[in-house]
Amino acid sequence: MRKILIVGAGQSGLQLALGLQSKGYEVTLMSNRTADEIRSGRVMSTQCMFHTALEHERDLGINFWESQAPKIEGLGVSVAAPDASRAVDWVGKLDGYAQSVDQRVKMAGWMETFAQRGGQLVIHGAAVSDLDYFSRTYDLVLVSAGKGELVSMFGRDASRSPYSEPQRALAVAYVHGLGPRPEHPDYDAVRCSLVPGVGELFVMPTFTTSGRADILFWEGVPGGPLDVFQGVKDPSEHLALTLELMEKFTPWEYARATKVELTDAGGTLAGRYAPTVRNPIGRLPGGGLVLGVADVVVANDPITGQGSNSASKCAASYLASITEHGDRPFDEQWMQGTFDRYWDTAQHVTKWTNAMLGVPPEHVLNLIGAGGVLQPVADRFANGFNDPADFENFFYEPEKAEAYLASVSGA
Ligand SMILES: Cc1cc2nc3c(=O)[nH]c(=O)nc-3n(C[C@H](O)[C@H](O)[C@H](O)COP(=O)(O)OP(=O)(O)OC[C@H]3O[C@@H](n4cnc5c(N)ncnc54)[C@H](O)[C@@H]3O)c2cc1C
Repeated sequence: MRKILIVGAGQSGLQLALGLQSKGYEVTLMSNRTADEIRSGRVMSTQCMFHTALEHERDLGINFWESQAPKIEGLGVSVAAPDASRAVDWVGKLDGYAQSVDQRVKMAGWMETFAQRGGQLVIHGAAVSDLDYFSRTYDLVLVSAGKGELVSMFGRDASRSPYSEPQRALAVAYVHGLGPRPEHPDYDAVRCSLVPGVGELFVMPTFTTSGRADILFWEGVPGGPLDVFQGVKDPSEHLALTLELMEKFTPWEYARATKVELTDAGGTLAGRYAPTVRNPIGRLPGGGLVLGVADVVVANDPITGQGSNSASKCAASYLASITEHGDRPFDEQWMQGTFDRYWDTAQHVTKWTNAMLGVPPEHVLNLIGAGGVLQPVADRFANGFNDPADFENFFYEPEKAEAYLASVSGA
């Protein structure tokens, strides 16, 4: 059977490894950390995944935490007014529920499953020189190492990467003890609070190493009042800062957060990165080729919560391209075609996410405002998180937005 090496055991690498393994491929998975190190380490994401991405996991029968993880049935948006009241406030209902399973739980569990099923798991932080050798001994080498150093092998695609600097400073805290949402306490939802010119707060339920928890996630405009987490090493100081900023900018969310405690010492994360699309094929010094997967080739800012969703969609798309290719060589043409097929979906995520990072034009403000009075607008916006291609139909161009709002108001 064909031999495939996957470097990087995150959402895309593990999903692809388990998928290929189930189809009889001889898969080697290389990870720079053991399952135990991942499980007891620091949180990596907020990893909220919507229906389509979750379906890809269900298709492979690897949705092991579905019954334990909170079912996220809505997505709400609030916009802060200058006096810190809520100028806009609505919750859209998702057609299929979303879920967030802490990547520490999921990646550690999937890695153990892969090994138990006979997969070859190698704990090693791969360097470019290793890949040179492996590209000669495997039929295909896939690099799914996220935003780590291996991305240097893949050139930046400037035509698809409008930003060369990070657009948000990120600060995440996993907590126990958050109170229910005041507006719709009968079901779980992701809450996005937009603070114009300052940044965004996301609050969402998750399933972590200690069970159900909630995540408080600030996205701050660099250099602004939320960009204060760099250099904060103490997790309790990180949480105190998070809450202080919530009290100042989003008091409606702070009101239910006064009793929270961190889930664990690894429950905080801070950082930033520039959203970047890369050329999908890496050329090794010895002439071998490797194919980049998910964040390696398309890394978007988490403002739209799409990276894990995209990683799942990329893994599913690559799995189909690999199996459909049969015994033919995984050459450069196949690699480019495989990426192009994924880009058909990914381009919509990149376009929408980059748009959300900029200052919203008037027609977008109108759309967001309309969600408060027209429930179908709120619902459509929420379901766009599952399928961002739909934003093409009503979001980017003022004429389409107006026509859509007119059609909904008329109805
Ligand atoms: C703060 C934050 C919040 C986010 N929130 C969301 C959200 O709500 N929803 C969503 O969909 N996405 C979200 N994302 C994005 C999402 O987490 C990522 O896009 C997703 O995990 C990417 O998957 P991946 O498989 O490409 O890489 P990763 O999940 O990053 O996995 C890469 C793996 O490779 C390993 N690795 C790195 N270098 C090497 C090496 N040299 N050798 C071997 N192994 C290596 C890493 O340790 C890691 O385990 C968020 C991201 C951040 C930072």
